[in-house]
Amino acid sequence: MPADIYDWIAQLKSDQWVLDVGSGQGSFPGAEYSCAWLALDDDPAAYTNAVRYSRVVGRGHQLPVRDGSIDLLISHHSLEHLAPLDETLAEMARVLKPGARCYISVPNGYGLCDAIYRLVFKGGGHVNRFHRDEVVSLVEQRLNVRLAGWHKLYSSFVYLRKLMELLENPTPKLPRRLMMIGWFPLRSVGFVQRTLYVGARLLDRWLRTDLAVYGWAFFFEKSSGQPVVEQPGYVNVCLYCGTGQGAASAQRTGRLSCRCQNCSRTYPFTRPFRNTV
Ligand SMILES: [Zn+2]
Repeated sequence: MPADIYDWIAQLKSDQWVLDVGSGQGSFPGAEYSCAWLALDDDPAAYTNAVRYSRVVGRGHQLPVRDGSIDLLISHHSLEHLAPLDETLAEMARVLKPGARCYISVPNGYGLCDAIYRLVFKGGGHVNRFHRDEVVSLVEQRLNVRLAGWHKLYSSFVYLRKLMELLENPTPKLPRRLMMIGWFPLRSVGFVQRTLYVGARLLDRWLRTDLAVYGWAFFFEKSSGQPVVEQPGYVNVCLYCGTGQGAASAQRTGRLSCRCQNCSRTYPFTRPFRNTV
């Protein structure tokens, strides 16, 4: 059965613990769960909304958690930000229960999507850069877990939407390169995002490239002895909030458009190709 993070979370009992490292507002705010949940982020401003879980301000390399106490470790788009990486991985290994599961997602540090992000935001806090096989072997060795499944994460270049928000309400602290982008009409940033979204998917379909792939989601657990297979990824990802959805269940608003299940806004629909749904 394919690994699914929402299933993994739902399977945990009330006396079990999730640790969400670099959680921001919470890695999976829509998840149903009955376990205990600790979210950790080094930015107090990340905790602005009302949420159900326990929150703590802290760093990945100094986890305020007892040895061997965590049943599911989540690091969702955070490992690329965490330094020092060696100490962070050692801390993650320390807090895991024997037989714990890990969900780790990272950007392809050498892909188009991350390259544009790093260019626009001058690194944007991405201090670690990974190839796919590199991050898998690093986590397997350091956390003593085995890869059970993985899938590609398709991008909607949603950070360009965040850029538009920054330019709409510029502060004096905004870097010069972003101010220069602000000289162009704001809607041109939206046009670039939409062009990248559609263009990258067309090229991926025709040329079998991975230009629209932002990164990967990895599911690690104790070795199951089963072969590791690539699971299908969501190719339809909201331009406005970044939520992915399956093409079969997407609400269509036209032949070439669909509605986001999370924010209800409309964006271009992509027919699945290769290993996507
Ligand atoms: Zn949305």
